[in-house]
Amino acid sequence: MSLGAPQLTSKMWGHREAQPGTVYLCGAGPGAPDLLTLRAHALIQTADVILPDDLVSEEILDLASPSAEIVPVGKRCGQPRITQAGIHELMVRHARQNQSVLRLKSGDPLVFGRANEEIEALRAARIPFEIVPGITAAFAVAAALQTPLTDRNSASKLILATAHHAAGKPNPIAWEGAFPAESTLVLYMPGRDFTTLAASLIASGIPPETPVAAVSNATTPEQRITSTTLALLPEAEPGPAPLLLLIGHAIQIQPETA
Ligand code: SAH
Repeated sequence: MSLGAPQLTSKMWGHREAQPGTVYLCGAGPGAPDLLTLRAHALIQTADVILPDDLVSEEILDLASPSAEIVPVGKRCGQPRITQAGIHELMVRHARQNQSVLRLKSGDPLVFGRANEEIEALRAARIPFEIVPGITAAFAVAAALQTPLTDRNSASKLILATAHHAAGKPNPIAWEGAFPAESTLVLYMPGRDFTTLAASLIASGIPPETPVAAVSNATTPEQRITSTTLALLPEAEPGPAPLLLLIGHAIQIQPETA
């Protein structure tokens, strides 16, 4: 009889090897390798081809099989190296060659990850695919801050938003009336123009004294936390991208973490 901890088996939980001819749209979590799901881990170890975004860390890619072909497909702001259509073409081509393809995205693949376009391309090409959730940056950042995102008294709504727009849409976003009272706003891709951003959020009706936490590189050794208010956000120096803003009265920032 084994006295050790029970082992997960693929029968119990469904984590399994990447299958030939299949594409996996998979979340890699916020950065730390031990915040991958077991399913993502199994797929990283067994996929033939891995197409990672820029934000997927080296430590995570180090878990891949030595025989895996890793093709980075990140599109850093302002310096496109590969088009979205190019990513679709790679996924479809490798799957048609009967390889297993892991499209690895930071955080959760369905949150600000252009997943709709990739899903459409795979459906149009009749390629079988699966979606594997991951821990989105908002949850990792809240955990790093040891703050709840909701609060029974002051935050009954949680809004995931981005300040980054599809080409051709106005920037900054017209936010009037977008944020109901008693909500926590999580802002992905906030950009660097905090003066315009704070002004447009205040114009939308969020009070200037609302607490703001800015977290750069959450869960990595470079993690940096900055605590401020919406009015003082333009003076903050919150560290490099990737950066996430949490805005709302539920956000509690301990002096020792900021
Ligand atoms: N699908 C991802 C989001 C992709 S958009 C997810 O679910 O997390 C990329 C944005 O996510 C970044 O600009 C930043 O706002 C945020 N982000 C991702 N990883 C982060 C991290 N480790 N720390 C802070 N913000 C992060």
